[in-house]
Amino acid sequence: MLYYMPTKLYYGKNIIFEHKNEMILGEKAIIVTGRNSAKITGALDDVISILKEFKIPFIHYNEIGENPTYDMVIKGRNIAIENECDFVIAIGGGSPMDAGKAIAVLTANPELNPDDLFDMNNYDVALPIVTIPTTSGTGSEVTEYSVLTKPDGKKSGFKSNLIFPDVSYLDPKYMIKMNKELTITTAVDALSHAVEGVLSKKSTIISDMLAKESISLIYKYLPKTLNDLENLKYREKLAIASALAGMVIAQTGTILPHSLGYRITIHKGIRHGQATAVFLPFVAKEVDKVSPEKTQILKDIFGSLDEFHLFLKNLGIYDFKINFNAEELELFTKDVLNSSHITNTPGKYDKDKIIEFYNNLTK
Ligand code: NAP
Ligand code: FE
Repeated sequence: MLYYMPTKLYYGKNIIFEHKNEMILGEKAIIVTGRNSAKITGALDDVISILKEFKIPFIHYNEIGENPTYDMVIKGRNIAIENECDFVIAIGGGSPMDAGKAIAVLTANPELNPDDLFDMNNYDVALPIVTIPTTSGTGSEVTEYSVLTKPDGKKSGFKSNLIFPDVSYLDPKYMIKMNKELTITTAVDALSHAVEGVLSKKSTIISDMLAKESISLIYKYLPKTLNDLENLKYREKLAIASALAGMVIAQTGTILPHSLGYRITIHKGIRHGQATAVFLPFVAKEVDKVSPEKTQILKDIFGSLDEFHLFLKNLGIYDFKINFNAEELELFTKDVLNSSHITNTPGKYDKDKIIEFYNNLTK
């Protein structure tokens, strides 16, 4: 067995200033962000003040949207190359962090196109990466994954040890501006990572320990946070829970709920965490039939699988109206059955079962 997580993770309030020299991983930085959150949270200003102090020039690329596309990372790569940037600082939610990782590989390997990222044998070098999360959900600050949306609209993750960030700064003060909805959708992404890690055929004693703590923290602190959004102590617990869950999937990968969710994010516009977490109880029940020992952690924390489902329902994540036509169900089932996620999910899954999962959402 191997536990591998090479990222240096600094966490705590104002942590970036305590370890600012570790952010300087080159001579010119490309800062990768979305449109607003890096600025609004104060993270961008903190980074810029440190770069200025160290006299490190930088270029700021702020065009990463949700579910980053090939075009977005190609543009980032071109900017990095034109400006001779030699390290990446990605600030934001999973989208800018994942885009930053793709830009780090594409810039170091200008001959590659984004499709080539999906085969890690195509490259053996990437720019150094710093990440600063402003959401607490994806755990991208401690994973070797980057999820991109392909030109055909399919969301897919690539994986390489080269894109484990070198240094990440996890500061809950950047997260207090998240509204209720974003707090829920990102927290249930982290919950999905931890739960999927536990259910996965690839779970280990170490990933289970991390997952158990992550699930417990979310169970305890998500409801409290929703009643007190700017409480830094609660935000810190959720940030840690998210990073722990990231460490889990860095070992186990994600399983069926992520694959099911990708389709409704792209085709129905439901945010990643919510789109994924709605399937957790359905998949957990299937896993329970064949490997009941794998669902024990959920039963211990929530009381039963039904109470786990109720916890999610009470967050309001099922409160949407959704319908699927026959053509969509055909496409989704085909993609899900072909995805690698299914291989590591205990249980039997055929076309009818996948359709049943989707139809559960329309009731
Ligand atoms: P996101 O897509 O990065 O951001 C969602 C929205 O939240 C954006 O509008 C963003 O604004 C805003 N936002 C970010 N931080 C905020 C803050 N502190 N306060 C207010 N608004 C804020 O959301 P995410 O859920 O963190 O990331 C989802 C992506 O990560 C998906 O593409 C998913 O597939 C991927 N993912 C990756 C991994 C991995 O291991 N690499 C794991 C799970 C999911 P701006 O646009 O202005 O920034
Ligand atoms: Fe996720």
